[in-house]
Amino acid sequence: MDKRKRRVRHGMVKERARILVVGGGYVGMYTALRLQRKLKAELRRGEAEITVVTPDPYMTYQPFLPEAAAGSISPRHVVVPLRRVLDRCQVVVGEAQSVDHARRTAAVTTLATEEEGRGARLFRYDELVLAPGSVSRVLPVPGLADHGIGFKTVEEAIGLRNHVIEQMDIASSTRDPALRDAALTFVFVGGGYAGVEALGELENMARYAARYYHNVAPDDMKWILVEATDRVLPEVGAELGRYTVSELRRRNVDVRLGTRLESCADRVAVLSDGSRFPTRTVVWTAGVRPHPVLDATDLPRTDHGKLRCTAQLSIEGTTHAWAAGDAAAVPDVTAGEPGRTCAPNAQHALRQARVLGDNIAHALRGEPLETYAHRYAGSVASLGHHQGVAQVYGRRLKGYPAWFMHRAYHLSRVPTVNRKARVLAEWVLAGLFKREIVSLGSLEHPRAEFELAAGGKPSPEPPHNPKGSS
Ligand SMILES: Cc1cc2nc3c(=O)[nH]c(=O)nc-3n(C[C@H](O)[C@H](O)[C@H](O)COP(=O)(O)OP(=O)(O)OC[C@H]3O[C@@H](n4cnc5c(N)ncnc54)[C@H](O)[C@@H]3O)c2cc1C
Repeated sequence: MDKRKRRVRHGMVKERARILVVGGGYVGMYTALRLQRKLKAELRRGEAEITVVTPDPYMTYQPFLPEAAAGSISPRHVVVPLRRVLDRCQVVVGEAQSVDHARRTAAVTTLATEEEGRGARLFRYDELVLAPGSVSRVLPVPGLADHGIGFKTVEEAIGLRNHVIEQMDIASSTRDPALRDAALTFVFVGGGYAGVEALGELENMARYAARYYHNVAPDDMKWILVEATDRVLPEVGAELGRYTVSELRRRNVDVRLGTRLESCADRVAVLSDGSRFPTRTVVWTAGVRPHPVLDATDLPRTDHGKLRCTAQLSIEGTTHAWAAGDAAAVPDVTAGEPGRTCAPNAQHALRQARVLGDNIAHALRGEPLETYAHRYAGSVASLGHHQGVAQVYGRRLKGYPAWFMHRAYHLSRVPTVNRKARVLAEWVLAGLFKREIVSLGSLEHPRAEFELAAGGKPSPEPPHNPKGSS
């Protein structure tokens, strides 16, 4: 008799282990993937079941969002369909609203619960993986809630691409010089990889697109990067951070270090150095905070609101609850100083997910748990235009080699052979043919034309979920 059967017989574990994974991002998807491999036999015998609750039926490979915004990769290829990849799990498209770990239940709303007009569905579980990731850390800057644009999801990336091209169309057709200036001014707040890469790729795309406008030249556009600290891309080190600033400035990007956005009310970006820029584009990438659903749980958290975890990725002081990724404070056992936790990035999230999956399988079988230990290997970032920076295992690269390494690294990392092949094909085609420069912003109002034809007024309401379109 194997260990689990003995434990079931002695009442130590339930006949069927119900594993609930909240979140279908890096941690959620890779943990479920690992579990469905590790627990293959248990799943076949009906001794385990894995349910993944996630608001979208896909995992987003976030490092590709800047390229999706620039149009180098189609939005559908930066996402991984969860139902296909997690074919031995139950995927529920919905959102956990709260978790009562004392009772081992999670309240989940889905599209169906909305339609039914009934309350949230209660999911009972034996093991919980809580991985809702993070949301943008929005500061109380006047006008930001009304005019700011985030850059964390594929919808935001596509929306931003359409928006930038639309601004060029406005600038090209307006008779008002002030409106033209505002349309051609693009302000990005936050000098981490999301902000720098998004600006680098979009500036590159807009510069290319300008050649097809009779009256918009690349030098008519103002691209501004605002960063509160005195450096950008801290992940690649000080020297490459300085190189990034000089490279962006060489491309006429106005990089303002030690500067904050104080207001963007009335579509005027006011900076802490006193400058004012009328603009219709403020992209906010100034940091992240743990997902607010954690407020609705009874699990222990740090002062920063993250789930307090052990190095084995269980949630401290609890049993049968696990976490990793952006929502979790996981001790960095390689740091050599107590209290240090792993940074919120994909590198840790992916590796933590593997250990987390293994540890749940170990726990179910009564085996000892593994400790998560990964020394940060460094970072790669693209600045667009065949430019990049990379710092890997202490080796520093810049320019074309770093850009190439960025692509090679992410191609090797993006999940599934299917996605790798499609992304590679798109890069090859982009090298052979001209880039796409159209905005399909009207996809956000697909019924407008028909409503007009039917004699009604076009509804201002965008449809639910205008996803994956460009
Ligand atoms: C533009 C951009 C570029 C980046 N580039 C890099 C890079 O180059 N290198 C790097 O290392 N890192 C990069 N990162 C960071 C990296 O993507 C994150 O650290 C990583 O995604 C964290 O994984 P996670 O699983 O914790 O969260 P996520 O991958 O964000 O997944 C969280 C999931 O939980 C779901 N969810 C949220 N709330 C609920 C709920 N209530 N119920 C159910 N599900 C919920 C979300 O929809 C999402 O699917 C980048 C991030 C961004 C935004």
